[in-house]
Amino acid sequence: MKTDSKSSSEKKYCSYCDHTGIVHNVHFEKLGENALSPCPKCVAAKCRCSGEEPYYYVKDEKIEICFCRDTRMKIVKILQIYNRSGINRKYLWKRLNDFKSVNKQAEDAKNAAYDIVKEFPNVRKGLFFWGNPGTGKTMLASIILTELIIRHAVEGRFISISRNFFKSLQETFFEGSSTYGESGKIEKELADVDMLVVDDFGIQKDTEWKQETLYDLVDARYEAEKFSIFTSNNNPHKAFKDLSQGRILSRIKEMCSIMEIGGTDYRDKL
Ligand SMILES: [Zn+2]
Ligand SMILES: [Zn+2]
Repeated sequence: MKTDSKSSSEKKYCSYCDHTGIVHNVHFEKLGENALSPCPKCVAAKCRCSGEEPYYYVKDEKIEICFCRDTRMKIVKILQIYNRSGINRKYLWKRLNDFKSVNKQAEDAKNAAYDIVKEFPNVRKGLFFWGNPGTGKTMLASIILTELIIRHAVEGRFISISRNFFKSLQETFFEGSSTYGESGKIEKELADVDMLVVDDFGIQKDTEWKQETLYDLVDARYEAEKFSIFTSNNNPHKAFKDLSQGRILSRIKEMCSIMEIGGTDYRDKL
């Protein structure tokens, strides 16, 4: 069994799917379809198995692997990763083209996002977006996560410091909780995942446990050299100067391109 090698080299140069072999079905929810499908131009056009598992077809009484197989298997994997990513419902399947830059800072941040998506995994290990609430930081971080999962099928997580991060750790301290005793496991998973979005980064200075926990997270990402995106309503140079004796800020500076996304409330313009 073999696949057509000429066709697979053609697959790399399809502009319709931006060389990914996969397209995003915009109205998939209404149509009852999957969010992703093989590119009609460079993959589905060469499919001879009708998209039926296990993606084989018969030619001259021999079983052949269909050209579409790798792409269809990759789509299954991407959907599994995406479903467990924790990405906020309202940003599900948003892509770079959905991000409308409202000013120069947002345009710069979007360009940085393009570069990351294009060059991944050969990129600097972090981005830090900060600015007023509602300027598109969370949306852009979610978009990068989505793009990287679709293009590279890498494991990615979205966590919110204010909504679920400390809460999920604190639950592990209570007997009777389904995650009792698993704080180490949660922290290790967040340290190891290929890509992590940490939304709404920041805490009150007076909580030492929270400071140490955040430092451990940032430090673990730094040590593992894994890609992370942070968003915050606060200027890190000021707000995090004294957190954990400045160690959090120092790590962030080493890992991240720090970018301000300012301006008026982005959500008004959607
Ligand atoms: Zn294509
Ligand atoms: Zn096929």
